[in-house]
Amino acid sequence: QQARSVWVYAFDQADPRDRTRLGGKGANLAQMVQWGLPVPPGFTITTEACKAFWQAGERLPDHLQSEVSMAMLRLERAAGKRFGDAFHPLLVSVRSGAPVSMPGMMDTILNLGLNDVTVRALAYQSQNPAFAYDSYRRLIQMFANVVFHVPLDPFEHVLQSAKARHGCKFDGDLAAGAWKEVVATCLRVYAERVGEPFPQDVHTQLRLAIEAVFRSWRSQRAMVYRKLHNLSEDLGTAVNVQAMVFGNIGEDSGTGVIFTRHPATGERALFGEFLVNAQGEEVVAGTRTPQPIAELAIKMPTVYRSLITVAHQLETRFRDMQDVEFTVERGRLYVLQTRNGKRTAQAAVKIAIDMVHEGLIQPQEALLRVDAQHLRQLLYRRLQSTDGLAVLTKGLPASPGAAVGRIVFDANTAVAWAGRGERVILVRPETTPEDIHGVLAAEGVVTLHGGMTSHAAVVARGIGKPAVCGCDDLRIDMEKLTLCAGEAMLREGDWVSVDGGMGMVFIGQGTLAEAQMANELNELLAIADQVRRLRVRANADTPEDARRAREFGAEGIGLCRTEHMFLSPARVPLVQRMILATHAVERKAALDELLPLQVADFTEIFRVMDGLPVTIRLLDPPLHEFLPREEELVANLGRLRAKATSESEIAEVEQLLCQARYLREANPMMGLRGSRLGIVYPEIYDMQMEAIVIAAAQAVESGIQVELEVMLPLIGSTKELRHLRERMEQVGQAVMERLGVTIDFRIGTMIEVPRAALTADEIAEDASFFSFGTNDLTQMTYAFSRDDAEGKFLNVYFDRDILSSNPFETLDTRGVGRLIRWAVESGKSRRPDLKTGVCGEHGGDPASIAFCEELGLDYVSCSPFRIPVARIAAAQAAL
Ligand code: ADP
Ligand code: MG
Ligand code: MG
Repeated sequence: QQARSVWVYAFDQADPRDRTRLGGKGANLAQMVQWGLPVPPGFTITTEACKAFWQAGERLPDHLQSEVSMAMLRLERAAGKRFGDAFHPLLVSVRSGAPVSMPGMMDTILNLGLNDVTVRALAYQSQNPAFAYDSYRRLIQMFANVVFHVPLDPFEHVLQSAKARHGCKFDGDLAAGAWKEVVATCLRVYAERVGEPFPQDVHTQLRLAIEAVFRSWRSQRAMVYRKLHNLSEDLGTAVNVQAMVFGNIGEDSGTGVIFTRHPATGERALFGEFLVNAQGEEVVAGTRTPQPIAELAIKMPTVYRSLITVAHQLETRFRDMQDVEFTVERGRLYVLQTRNGKRTAQAAVKIAIDMVHEGLIQPQEALLRVDAQHLRQLLYRRLQSTDGLAVLTKGLPASPGAAVGRIVFDANTAVAWAGRGERVILVRPETTPEDIHGVLAAEGVVTLHGGMTSHAAVVARGIGKPAVCGCDDLRIDMEKLTLCAGEAMLREGDWVSVDGGMGMVFIGQGTLAEAQMANELNELLAIADQVRRLRVRANADTPEDARRAREFGAEGIGLCRTEHMFLSPARVPLVQRMILATHAVERKAALDELLPLQVADFTEIFRVMDGLPVTIRLLDPPLHEFLPREEELVANLGRLRAKATSESEIAEVEQLLCQARYLREANPMMGLRGSRLGIVYPEIYDMQMEAIVIAAAQAVESGIQVELEVMLPLIGSTKELRHLRERMEQVGQAVMERLGVTIDFRIGTMIEVPRAALTADEIAEDASFFSFGTNDLTQMTYAFSRDDAEGKFLNVYFDRDILSSNPFETLDTRGVGRLIRWAVESGKSRRPDLKTGVCGEHGGDPASIAFCEELGLDYVSCSPFRIPVARIAAAQAAL
């Protein structure tokens, strides 16, 4: 009776569910063997052995050797050959395979078991000496490479010079005698490089190979890969020892890789490549050009039919698209590996929905087959091809989508050029709210400074324009109107192509491919809508945004920022007059002119959102954001004086400058903004409230159903809130009386100041809803300036593992999240029907959405283009 194995499991005996110990490759090989698919026999050494190997200071654990010997005996019986035998030698591959897929990151050795004796037997058995000696050569160089890290070149050189000497173009043209010479030379090269002869003892070969595969777990590239994909260092790799089959034994043999469906489009048809008379690694090595799999149907029709059958079996049993490695030996098909295939977002959606239709998976499972974050790719335009376009620069992928246009360097030029029908790309050192009209006019934005949450990025994402930020190798010369990167120099008006999803800028005019919400995506969204509990609203500031948001399935507006309405070029002078006013009467006059404009904005938004809630936030940013920058004003003043312009014109600029200086604050984000502005300059909020109520009345008049929520920003204490709430209620009441109507509205607040979160029970007495403004809340809780942190130190924090993700993209659940949880609980303790939601960038981030679901918030609100992502993520969170 054989003792129970600890480290080693044969494919036909292992438990395929145990992926942690068998690794993905081993588990699937065991599974396929147990289903009766044509897989060469073999066994798996577990990841536990790998961990033990590392713990013992790179020593194989004690009983491993004897377990491997037992398993080899069994394998010999199954294969009908013996390891190291002089007549019927068994050859094996020694293959890595971790619990998570790390394609190509670790090592594998083929043809193990060949030596000076067995190679002769293989030559005789196969009646193909060239094949046998070539296999031996491959073993020698792979072994040297994997076990002793000898580069492949010296061995390749031996082969190349042999071909040259014999006047052969292809490896296959070399005669058996020449192969023997090649092997002899390779053995010499091996001994020189390694410092000892190639091990003729096959058991030594096996032991060294197993150790080397374990060691490859901690190779440089494997570690880099794990860091990149956030994979644990503790998993370890398994080792699979498997009987060799030979695709390189003749013209009736070969090797290849297939996907059971198209990995880019999801189309249901075999997709892949194969090579006749070749061994494994050649398909990927790129030395010979593989043929499309359809050719196999012509060359080897029986094999092709078996492949179709196998593909079908694998799909129905694994219930997912498979990526399959196979080899054909003398007309017989063998499967060497299968795994769930990597795919594009488009393919993921199509395959998931097709599989629901085929009855392979349940609708809810389909939801789990897509990566919500990944889906964003589908909602934007793309560059059809970048062939022939030189890269200008690479920056941060700040806002996805693609754009092609001519460079301009300032917002006014962007507007002017766009006005005459040009497509432009706005390139700026950074953008500020002052540039918004330029961002709106441009097809895309490129900035030198700023990160993923910089102004340009946030605005561009909100309106769905591609942006690449932080291209710090670019230099702009505003005098000469040129843009340089390395050797390249572009002028204003030159064409560039921007890919905001990749963070790339190319020189020249690429071709754009339109995005489309395919039927499959709509079907998936419909499934999501049935599953999710969280409502999904949009951050939309304009009627166009609102329309787009509804198309994408928004169930209301969670954040309508009124400042963007103040920033359109036509209104800026009015707003500036309002700011420059030295007393209330003057300010009121300017506001009176703004009022009808605001009314028109709101009416249109109510119309678009008919029947759905609309949350309007009163003015939030510090007033200086509506004035030109001080330096610009100073420069302008200099120019005006030099030209001896009229006194009144100079006086106007002087006044602007004076006011800009007066409004300047050391910490504007903690300064006179939000509710503080509403308290200090009450006329502004009065006007906004009046406009909102008039607009609502007009909308109701024309049969629109209005569900109005008025939101006060940057509240820190309940007294601030009460003060403003009472005033807004009075204004609202007065307007309604004047118009002779009643409009229902609720007043609530953003929770974005930590103190508001901490005193949420008090705050809830005056707020009928809380909307967590997680951008500011993160900024203030972490004390990270959102506009500077990325450029200045976040990257260092990522590199040093002090932060693992950007808290402005993915909610910091331990800190900021704890404040939110506290605020929700204490707010509801005082007001059980308190409505809660998140607006801010996090509202469109799948991980953050999962946290909102956990807290039982009522809704998330995100930019229109993220709504489909949020719908899917909300459903995934609910499952
Ligand atoms: P990777 O994880 O890098 O894909 P594999 O262990 O899958 O490494 O091996 C690479 C290739 O080597 C396989 O795709 C297959 O073509 C070939 N190979 C591995 N084991 C065998 C075997 N037992 N017989 C024939 N070819 C093999
Ligand atoms: Mg493989
Ligand atoms: Mg805020």
